[in-house]
Amino acid sequence: MAGGISLDTIANKVENGDRLSLDEGVYLYQDDVPLNEVAALANLVRERKNGNFGYYNINTHLNATNICVYRCNFCAFRADLREPRGYVMSDEQIVARGQEAVDNGCTEMHIVGGLHHQKKYEWYVNCLRILHDAFPTLHLKGWTAVEINWFEFLTKKPVEEVLTDLLDAGLGSMPGGGAEIFHREVRDQICEHKANSNKWFEVHGTAHKLGIKTNATMLYGHIENAFHRIDHLIRLREQQDLTGGFQTFIPLAFHPDNTKLAAMRNLKKPSVLMDLRTMAISRLMLDNFDHIKAYWIMLGIETAQTALAYGADDIDGTVRHELIYHDAGATTPEVLSVEDIRRLISETGREPVERDTLYRRVERDPANPSAWSVGEQVAVGG
Ligand code: SF4
Repeated sequence: MAGGISLDTIANKVENGDRLSLDEGVYLYQDDVPLNEVAALANLVRERKNGNFGYYNINTHLNATNICVYRCNFCAFRADLREPRGYVMSDEQIVARGQEAVDNGCTEMHIVGGLHHQKKYEWYVNCLRILHDAFPTLHLKGWTAVEINWFEFLTKKPVEEVLTDLLDAGLGSMPGGGAEIFHREVRDQICEHKANSNKWFEVHGTAHKLGIKTNATMLYGHIENAFHRIDHLIRLREQQDLTGGFQTFIPLAFHPDNTKLAAMRNLKKPSVLMDLRTMAISRLMLDNFDHIKAYWIMLGIETAQTALAYGADDIDGTVRHELIYHDAGATTPEVLSVEDIRRLISETGREPVERDTLYRRVERDPANPSAWSVGEQVAVGG
């Protein structure tokens, strides 16, 4: 027990649906707080909200360039303009990626990348437009708050106008990247140049006001501590109280390979126990988020499966062409089949449910699995 906080007092609050404080969140990160008991509480919340369902989607990634003006020191994906590994995809390659997605029954394309300083704003808008024009049913989840902030810099337009342009070009929703760790003590050391936390929240709040659903992430397991992680979660919870447009929270484990940060600080990948504790605590702190995702690419398949009993209700998708975490040493496959992802969920005792990006059930014709239609919104409890 520390400062009147104990697992019993926290359990009472969780059972009553009361909100946990910053100190209680930090307490749950102590090694001597039994992880299995934290997991049981997280599972209670997970099952209240999402029953026994384990969600997945059929999706693909598009990283149209890896050339980036920034130098976040945790990033193994970026390249300089003249580096041999730097690339920019042509319009034809981008459209071909869309065709491949549609042919494989994908409902979503996740679009993020570097901030190429020689590409104009129109090039980024065009990426969305050519995909949306050719494949109007493919949901484009594109551009993080960091990219939106870059577009703001390029155009001198306010965030709302940039987002309106992107909506007009075919944007469906936004991913949650670029959040990293919000607290300045950490952010200034890992990505001092890119959008700060106030800007990240301004972009997401504006998106929510325009009716654009977004996700949120946290990059953990590097130089941050428990206080920074809980501070991060509470800032997200406060924004959700204000604008309510976050769908899913995705805790992202730091992958050290090929990163300056790992070399400078001699960092290793976080342990599986840290992954699972962070998943469970995220579920407990974010009482106003419907979904917590165990991103199998980053966690590894076994940990992602286990996380479905530690607060997560979603395992992400089949995924194609993921580069960002594979460049940083992820050893997971580059794609899972639908059969594989359904089996991974079923093996945990959960019921696999295919969802679209906006958490509507997806109905497929067994005779033609690449054809699909959208069904009911999934029901989420309190
Ligand atoms: S994390 Fe994003 S913004 Fe930072 S260097 Fe990598 S690609 Fe660029």
